[in-house]
Order: sequence, then C-alpha cells, then structure tokens
Amino acid sequence: MVEHLPERIDPLALAEKRRQFKGSLPLSQLVRLQDVLLNPEGLVRFELRFGKDGKLSAVTGSVEAYLELQCQCCLGPIAWPVDSQVKLALVGSIDEADLLPESYEPLLLEEETILLTDIIQEELLLAIPSIPQHGQCKASAPKEVAKMPDTPKRPNPFAVLAELKK
Ligand SMILES: [Zn+2]
Repeated sequence: MVEHLPERIDPLALAEKRRQFKGSLPLSQLVRLQDVLLNPEGLVRFELRFGKDGKLSAVTGSVEAYLELQCQCCLGPIAWPVDSQVKLALVGSIDEADLLPESYEPLLLEEETILLTDIIQEELLLAIPSIPQHGQCKASAPKEVAKMPDTPKRPNPFAVLAELKK
C-alpha cells in the first residue's frame, strides 16, 4: 500500500538491488495529471521492477488506471482506460538515450533521486491524447459550431478533424 512507498528514490541504486514496487495510488496525488482529469477520483495500480538488462539499468512493469478525461469538443466526459506496459532505461544524457535499443523508452535522470510517483504520472500522461476527443463527438456536427465555447488558446478541434479527413 501507499504507506510503504518511498517518496524519493535513487533509481540506479534500486536497479542494482533489483527492487520491486507494487501497489496503488490515489489519482489525486498526481499533481500534473489533475489538469487533464475531469474527475480526480480513482486509483492507479502499478507494478515497477527495477533491474539490469545487460549494462542497462531499467524499470519495467505496468501502470493501470481508469481515467475520466474531458472532450475538448463538447466538454463532456470521456472514459479512458489505461493499461500501459512500462519499459524504461535509465540514462544520464540525451546522447545516451539515442543509443538505447528501440524497445526502451529513456528515463532521463537530471538528478540523482526522483519521485517514484513521477514515473507513474509520466506513464499516465503518455497514455493520454494531447487533445482528448470523442471518436464521434456529437458537438462536431456543423450545426453545433455556434455553441462552441470560446477557447482561443486551445487548438481548434475542427482544424484537427479537417486534417484527418484529407
Ligand atoms: Zn465530445
């Protein structure tokens, strides 16, 4: 459970020790995720295994959650189940990241220690589209255009749709 989770970790040391963490975490603890969640309730389940793959220090495992995002077209809820396989290699520089085998995503270590929850949060953020939208959003029908709220800073979802139709 959450109580046993260390907050800050030294991932390279954990990889040497081949430590594993398994548990669940309230979504409300993941600060950056809040911007994209319509509903902050719920849990993320995770399993993270630190270890070595040859010379690589790696983190593998899975992150699973049921998220509720907001459609950027009609502003209604979108159910977004996430079941991600984690396969990260710990690297100290961009150059090192370029040399990784393709099956690994780089986890760039800018400091010696990181927040364990950051790994989980990052995986969830990667699993979310940059502009969440219903596949067949009812608000995207032309007659609904006048009802679109004024959000000049967001990319126009209709422009994206137009691109897709080309
Ligand atoms: Zn929608």
